[in-house]
Amino acid sequence: MVSRMANKSKDEKDSEIKLGEFYTISRRNTGLTKTFVLEKRLNTITQRFEYYVHYENLDRRLDEWIDAEKLEQEIKDSNVASSNDQQEESMVTRNKKRKYDEINHVSMPLSDMDPATAALEKEHEAITKIKYIDRIQLGRYEIDCWYYSPYPEVFGRTPKLYICAFCLKYMKTKKSYAIHKRRCSRRNPPGYEIYRQETGNEKLAIFEVDGNHDKVYCQCLCLVAKLFLDHKTLYFDVDPFYFYVLTKSTPEGAEIIGYYSKEKQSDENNNLACILTFPPYQRQGYGKLLISFSYELSKREGQVGSPEKPLSDLGRLSYRSYWTYVLLENLKDYRGQITIADLSENTCISRDDIIWTLRSLNLVKYWKGDHVICVSPKLLEDFVASPSFKKPKMLCDQTCIRYTPHGRRPRELN
Ligand SMILES: [Zn+2]
Repeated sequence: MVSRMANKSKDEKDSEIKLGEFYTISRRNTGLTKTFVLEKRLNTITQRFEYYVHYENLDRRLDEWIDAEKLEQEIKDSNVASSNDQQEESMVTRNKKRKYDEINHVSMPLSDMDPATAALEKEHEAITKIKYIDRIQLGRYEIDCWYYSPYPEVFGRTPKLYICAFCLKYMKTKKSYAIHKRRCSRRNPPGYEIYRQETGNEKLAIFEVDGNHDKVYCQCLCLVAKLFLDHKTLYFDVDPFYFYVLTKSTPEGAEIIGYYSKEKQSDENNNLACILTFPPYQRQGYGKLLISFSYELSKREGQVGSPEKPLSDLGRLSYRSYWTYVLLENLKDYRGQITIADLSENTCISRDDIIWTLRSLNLVKYWKGDHVICVSPKLLEDFVASPSFKKPKMLCDQTCIRYTPHGRRPRELN
């Protein structure tokens, strides 16, 4: 007798996995992991069914589309693993009762937020819960995407987008991308080149692009950046921003590595709104290059600056290590009494950011209503020798900057 299971068609098998339910599957890095199934689709490229899953307590950038058969196999295998372990409370249970709204996607529980923030956060999650675009071809690189981005309808639903590394125009098919590559005459970002650095055989440049002047380019930049940034609401209203685009020279042209945006007028003295290094270039020091560049511009503007809050998890790590390096370097070279105001003046890092950093290093005390730096030369030496103190791989070279603050430019260049 043939088992009923074996006779089931593929479509019937697919339906065994239910949307809105928890399963447990085995992940490479986290082992048995509670997984929530959010959506199902037919992948238009592979012509196979896929399920969109979120892993409980893991960042949403790890959410992914999994081939239906692979997911079924995963669920079956982890069931076996668990029952073998004879665990008291089977981690592998399918919990039919629990629904989407019980999942905590954000680092702060919704219950800890004020009602208005919690409502916005919930709305954000509802709109952005599924990333349809799995990967992009950005110039020479095929890159897995991390988050949802609001590309217009047909483009936003395709598993793979092709994006020109020079003009950032997006295409649905390999064929239209090939045609575009032949026709596109852009070989670098629009705007002014305000930084050029040549080290060894690497040529880097930073272009200042005005959101008002090069609107389409900046909107395309925001759309592709959103694929790698969770909390970012700016996509179409790019007028009030400058975009600083870091590129690297290739035989084809100046390919984009990353960028940051900056409000033209910031009431909070923010010198950076959003920052991103594209995944193929991450962990190579480019983020710190952009951060140090943003402070160099602040120095030229004669203003203390600070990144817009909240920072993303990766952004916080970068800033913390940059601030630690710059502040300890400053303290190391200083003889005598130094105040937080002095440090802020030397570095253009804001008072709050300095206190936050020094407090995390235990180098500041609250004394008679004020924060006081308490550090001895010996303590500093120990810090500089410790692993938390890392000299950035790359910092911006001040001699490579060609920048006049906007207020001081001739009118036609402003
Ligand atoms: Zn192009």
